[in-house]
Amino acid sequence: MIDKLLIANRGEIALRILRACKEMGIKTVAVHSKIDRDLKHVRLADESVCIGPNPSTDSYLNIPALISAMEITDSNAVHPGYGFLAENADFAEQVQKSGFTFIGPDADVIRLMGDKVSAIAAMKRAGVPTVPGSDGPLPEHKETCLRIAQGIGYPVIIKAAAGGGGRGMRVVHDADSLINSIAVTKAEAKAAFGDDTVYMEKFLQNPRHVEIQVMSDGQGGAIHLGDRDCSLQRRHQKVIEEAPAPGIPDEARADVLEACTKACIEIGYRGAGTFEFLYEDGGFYFIEMNTRIQVEHPVTEMVTGVDLIKEQIRVCSGERLSIRQQDVLIKGHSFECRINAEDPNSFLPSPGRVSNFHPPGGLGVRVDSHLYSGYSVPPNYDSMIAKLITYGETREEALIRMRSALDEMIVDGIKTNIPLQQELVRDKAFAKGGVNIHYLEKKLGLS
Ligand code: ADP
Repeated sequence: MIDKLLIANRGEIALRILRACKEMGIKTVAVHSKIDRDLKHVRLADESVCIGPNPSTDSYLNIPALISAMEITDSNAVHPGYGFLAENADFAEQVQKSGFTFIGPDADVIRLMGDKVSAIAAMKRAGVPTVPGSDGPLPEHKETCLRIAQGIGYPVIIKAAAGGGGRGMRVVHDADSLINSIAVTKAEAKAAFGDDTVYMEKFLQNPRHVEIQVMSDGQGGAIHLGDRDCSLQRRHQKVIEEAPAPGIPDEARADVLEACTKACIEIGYRGAGTFEFLYEDGGFYFIEMNTRIQVEHPVTEMVTGVDLIKEQIRVCSGERLSIRQQDVLIKGHSFECRINAEDPNSFLPSPGRVSNFHPPGGLGVRVDSHLYSGYSVPPNYDSMIAKLITYGETREEALIRMRSALDEMIVDGIKTNIPLQQELVRDKAFAKGGVNIHYLEKKLGLS
């Protein structure tokens, strides 16, 4: 059993994990960089350890410092949150080798899913629908590559097996530029990820981003908790998410949900996970699996009533799932707006002191944030400062609530993207539901 858990993260997710631990009677250890000593969860944790200077490579990404912090505080588990080391198989392995519990799947499962080529192959074996593509890495032989592209049909996209964060991808529109594009993507992948393996997929023109939340105990138990639509993106960064994804036919949804649950059992998955799909013309196409809790998990919590972090901690500590599939009922609708410390027009980060923070409230309004009046947002990390989540019996009610909640929210002293969010939740096409992944950039005049 876990009695003391170290939170290897910062900001709102660190606070979210701390709250779950408090409810479970688990003691908490906060770790922080020098500049982060005033974070809210650091003040609320049972113990705290400064693990290094401000750059994340010296602190939140510093594996030896984290393992030492676990040792000196006598922690027996670590929650990695999202970002930082959450999907780092070496970290998971070292945590386990040191005799601690990693709140996530085994290192070899993280590795399997971290390489997109092996992830796609595993998904195919499990019957999860994938994007038509090269069926493995592209060979050196140019004629073969041209033949593969011809077979798939242009446009195609060349992707790095080790890619992530929207990097290491290139769209190719015709045979003339194929060979050169493969070479350039390979060189970029080698430089960025130390691995020049690339593969090819059909480039879907106007897909939506729809993802499936799963929870699995690694002991033969796996459930899904419905889907989310995260199509509103800028530079592959999600801006607004919702659950459930609007306008998906019941049958297509049921098939993909079942395939994902089955895949969890086949790969021996443990913990919370997300299968990401592109959705176009009624079809789902797997693109990758995230082996961690995600930023947007609250919208699923709102429509299912399941505390995903508590369940994740339970199953990763060796317990069986506490919920059966038939107990997961999707009720109502939920939206999440990511609030960032940035200029709403130029998107440049806007760190600094928050002179006044007044979060919105009321029925069906949730704010996951580490902000408080007087807190200084440091320039060193991600600019997300809050997640504003609303719930409604219907999609319309949840959206109306989001409009009021955004209008009520006050963050003084720094610039935020609240004005942009206020505009987006009043956008007619967004209100109708089902916009594709290019919609926001087109609206902003970026593409
Ligand atoms: P990353 O791990 O870098 O996030 P993904 O494989 O998840 O990479 O792809 C990121 C984004 O790139 C997708 O959300 C989508 O916008 C675009 N994309 C990836 N593959 C395709 C494809 N086959 N067709 C169209 N767009 C794609």
